[in-house]
Amino acid sequence: MERLDPHPVTGALLPSPVPPGAGWPGDPAGPDTPVATTAARVRRLAATAPDVAELQARVSVCRACPRLVRWREDVATTGRRASFADQPYWGRPGPSFGDPDAEVLLVGLAPAANGTNRTGRMFTGDSSGDFLWAGLHRTGFAALPTSVAAGDGQVLTGMRIVAAVRCAPPKNEPTPTEKETCRSWLVRDLELATPRLRAVLCLGAIGWDAALAAATSAGWDVPRPKPRFGHAAEVVLTTPDGRGIRLVGCYHVSPHNTFTKRLTPAMLDEVLLSLRAG
Ligand code: SF4
Repeated sequence: MERLDPHPVTGALLPSPVPPGAGWPGDPAGPDTPVATTAARVRRLAATAPDVAELQARVSVCRACPRLVRWREDVATTGRRASFADQPYWGRPGPSFGDPDAEVLLVGLAPAANGTNRTGRMFTGDSSGDFLWAGLHRTGFAALPTSVAAGDGQVLTGMRIVAAVRCAPPKNEPTPTEKETCRSWLVRDLELATPRLRAVLCLGAIGWDAALAAATSAGWDVPRPKPRFGHAAEVVLTTPDGRGIRLVGCYHVSPHNTFTKRLTPAMLDEVLLSLRAG
């Protein structure tokens, strides 16, 4: 018999991984959402997504990378962390989260196995996320200082969080092929955001490289040689219609960086506030 567990906010009994449209709070997909099973299909479904809502629905049911599908579903069923063993796991790709009319896109690396892969929301359910959301709240982007679960009332204004890779990778290391396959979703995120976009904030060198690669694929003008990542590094990219978009770097909010004080709350806030100022 299929195992069901109560969602931590709604109490709804759900299987892991959760099927699209089963009642997970904020699930962007339904039973009829088209599923990408190959890189070619990712490219086609991304390119034809008419808006952010449909793009995220399609992302959230993607099955194009066999290794990552296996890993995310294994973690969601038999590999749950003991402290979360009584919760249902999302077990699907992490859709973007935030303001569909955002002027700022935040590009992360990939979901964590017991974070986004459990909660279904970017940077939610792990210590990296705790550090980030506190800063987003201090600087006025996030309604709440914490993000613990879908359905908790968290809202982002003016910002949407995306990622280089949308499925939790083993050892946090997606392969080059997986990064390339997933890039098509990010390219479409850039294209749909472009009319209102002012800045792209990249967490870590991988987020920086993913944003540059996606911008190039979207036809933006990217300086050469490739701009180097650094904390508070900044470069202007030019969209096909001639608009300048700031690309800004920030050390990743990983425990490795925050516990060692390589990235402090003040450093994070300074970068975030520079984005608010435009
Ligand atoms: S990593 Fe991206 S392309 Fe690969 S299965 Fe997940 S969502 Fe699809």
